[in-house]
Amino acid sequence: MLKSENNEQNELHKKACLVRNKNATNSVYFRGLIEFSNICQNNCYYCGIRKSNTKVKRYELTVDQILMCVDSCYRNRITSIVLQSGERTDKEFTDFIFKIINEIKTKFPDIFITLSVGELPREIYEELFRLGVQRYLLRIETSDEQHYYKLHPDTMSFKNRLRCLNDLKEIGYQVGTGVMINSPFQKIENLADDILFFRDIDIDMCGMGPFIPHSETRFANYNYNREQSLNLGLNMISALRITMPDINIAATTALETISNCGRKLGLMAGANVIMPQFSPFSTRKEYFLYNDKPVGTEDDTDLINSLKQVCKESGMIPGFEDPGSSLHFQRRRHGKIH
Ligand code: SAH
Repeated sequence: MLKSENNEQNELHKKACLVRNKNATNSVYFRGLIEFSNICQNNCYYCGIRKSNTKVKRYELTVDQILMCVDSCYRNRITSIVLQSGERTDKEFTDFIFKIINEIKTKFPDIFITLSVGELPREIYEELFRLGVQRYLLRIETSDEQHYYKLHPDTMSFKNRLRCLNDLKEIGYQVGTGVMINSPFQKIENLADDILFFRDIDIDMCGMGPFIPHSETRFANYNYNREQSLNLGLNMISALRITMPDINIAATTALETISNCGRKLGLMAGANVIMPQFSPFSTRKEYFLYNDKPVGTEDDTDLINSLKQVCKESGMIPGFEDPGSSLHFQRRRHGKIH
């Protein structure tokens, strides 16, 4: 499936959409993405905001700025948000997240919150769950331990990342993970194994995107083939959809970066989630993970119209106001849908 091209690829994508529409949904779920800080203690070799990149202007939004972003999602009938940042484990940071969650839950009690702030101790994950965070995204980046250490320094720990995914699941979160596609040193077999990994740990959500070089990293001159990355990215979505019919799969920003209709193609390959950016314009360009990362449109009406258009063109229905819980999660937890 991953290698399919031309007609065979079209058939694969069509099949994945049929599987999605039958087992999950033909609505597109939206997640307002709020990238609230680019301060990071890690040094992932591929990432533009890694700690040792001194050219990055670091920022952290205030609680009030974050609330304004949430308000903007809410006004646009997007009732599910993703709070994402660089990784930190210090108390100042975890206390800050507790505060953010408390404030959001007080002012917007019916908003669904996904956190994507990296590896934390189990006790912190438990406290965040108690405060009302329902979902957590933590990409494994690659499910092959040896490959992992070609992309990360050995001060980072593959086993700890697995521990986190396991803890999150046990605590009761809807758990999402994902990988970078066509990353340096990756073989196609790794991607096939990644899909089996997702199946075996029984994820509820997935965000995968093509690797894109960043000019201030060791992979700056990595010779990547845009077309190949796009096709692999789309085929990964289809193959995962066929393997796990009722999970939520995102058509990611990285996909949109390598093709100007990447999101639409992602939906047409079997994805069902789009994560439009809702961070303030002043900081968007500082959350620069890879070259050419788009900053989006400034006007809410334009944004909403373009989301509607993408849904229409891919034959799907926009799921405004829909919390868009993973059906897989609901079946896993309750044995039924409600
Ligand atoms: N620190 C958070 C998320 C921040 S980065 C966490 O670890 O959960 C969000 C995602 O951007 C990463 O998981 C990674 O998969 C992706 N990313 C980083 N650099 C990238 C690059 N050069 N190309 C493509 N994706 C990249």
